Amino acid sequence: MKLNVKRILTTLSPLSVKYRSLHDVRVRFAPSPTGYLHLGGLRTALYNYLFALKNNGKFILRIEDTDQTRLVAGATKSIIDDLRWSGIVVDEGPTVGGNFGPYVQSERLPIYNEAVQQLIEDGSAYRCYCSQTRLDLLRKEALKQRQIPKYDNKCRHLKQSDIQDKLSKGVPFCVRFKLDDYNDPVQDLVYGNVFVNSSKHEGDPIIIKSDGYPTYHFANVVDDHYMEVTHVFRGVEWQISTPKHLLLYKAFGWNPPKYGHLPLLINADGTKLSKRQGDISIKSFRESGVFSLALVNYVMCAGGGFHKEQSTKPSLETLESLSKMFNIENLNSHPGRLNPDLLNDFNNLEIRRKLSDENETDELIKTVRGMVRSKYPERNIDLETPYLKSILKWSAERLSNLSDLTSDKFNFLWTDGSAVNTKELTKGKTFKLNNIYVDCFNISICFIDQILELLDSLEKIEFSKTNIQTSLKSYSGKAQIKFPVLMKILRTSLSGLKEGPGVAEVMEIFGKDESLRRIRSNLNSSSI
Ligand code: GLU
Repeated sequence: MKLNVKRILTTLSPLSVKYRSLHDVRVRFAPSPTGYLHLGGLRTALYNYLFALKNNGKFILRIEDTDQTRLVAGATKSIIDDLRWSGIVVDEGPTVGGNFGPYVQSERLPIYNEAVQQLIEDGSAYRCYCSQTRLDLLRKEALKQRQIPKYDNKCRHLKQSDIQDKLSKGVPFCVRFKLDDYNDPVQDLVYGNVFVNSSKHEGDPIIIKSDGYPTYHFANVVDDHYMEVTHVFRGVEWQISTPKHLLLYKAFGWNPPKYGHLPLLINADGTKLSKRQGDISIKSFRESGVFSLALVNYVMCAGGGFHKEQSTKPSLETLESLSKMFNIENLNSHPGRLNPDLLNDFNNLEIRRKLSDENETDELIKTVRGMVRSKYPERNIDLETPYLKSILKWSAERLSNLSDLTSDKFNFLWTDGSAVNTKELTKGKTFKLNNIYVDCFNISICFIDQILELLDSLEKIEFSKTNIQTSLKSYSGKAQIKFPVLMKILRTSLSGLKEGPGVAEVMEIFGKDESLRRIRSNLNSSSI
């Protein structure tokens, strides 16, 4: 089916002109589906999104899939999923549609072909018939001479009769753009005035390949124009291409958007993030239990752009509030360092924030229940909502990830309490009682009834951390057992741990019945 480009364009443009003022902000995120979304890509998307939010503008998602050889199956879907997960709302794009579509470049070929005709006709572009063999030779020769390999623009000078002849014989060709010098500075919203003269380093670039697909530069410019993009925020690796894009705008007689290039995102130690590092994909953060708002704050903290009160404590901001604080002029032009400690802090803050909301708490409980079940499928443990809720409330300050709850440190929460051998764990521990060294375990057996009675009586007041702590403290004084020794015995019999959370705290989490059951059964069974 042959698409009528003029029809596509004329049906779209009048609509847009009718409803928009010329100054409406329109930005786009234009990933190539050659892999998963990673931190750098998310950051680019976020800066564009925050800029749109701040200016009441539109955020467009455009899939740049013109390099068909590098497509990765499922990448487009996963990029869309990751953007949605991170809280970005796409105003126009492949799944939501919009007045300026299609939003996938491979569906826009007629538009590029129509546009390139204009450039061929007015002499800004030409058909190139050079074979790959010739291009390879040129390259080899340049390298031999220690020069930058570049196309020698041979076909710029073909005679009209030669062109007609080749066209009639159906000789394959690509289309190249006549790249002139670009001596003006590029005004970059982040870097200020930047001088790059592309034609110094390269010959005339291909804009339509011999397979009929446009190259990135051409499709990108044509789409930004027809989609009425006003601002382009993209990675600094594209800065070198911007003069080429500006020359294309000039050749078409179009007004270019404003450009702002985003500095590199680097590791805390100053090394480069590698796209091949699976661990920087958004997918891997999601799968490892990082919450979206935490990841967003983490990424946004690395590059500047926000006016925030100086504070030593990190605070978690919503996309809405980030957009209010965002100012492109505050963006740093030096590389942004990621600080992984901050990611933990943000994730902790997000867990605590969720716990202040009933529905979100239920979600957390479901997740924890699933994690515990899959980690300890054989255990018969209480995973009822009230118990999990009390665990979450108690542990919130200590967690940077919900999965911490299934780490060894918190194993005691998910045991049925029968596996602990207090005798073994307190072996060799002695303490001084009336100037005599007494075996720690044996003495605890003597006191067990008193301790149990004491704890039991707490029901009359409240089985709370403070009450438990106070009672045990006064008991240790009366019974002349050193408080730390008493705690050691109780901790091991409750949780099997030598170190860990406070005994009173653990008892509060377990509740009275479970605490008493554990102490009684562990001390008694260990004494056998
Ligand atoms: N498709 C390009 C990329 O993946 C887009 C660059 C741009 O935003 O112009 O990064």
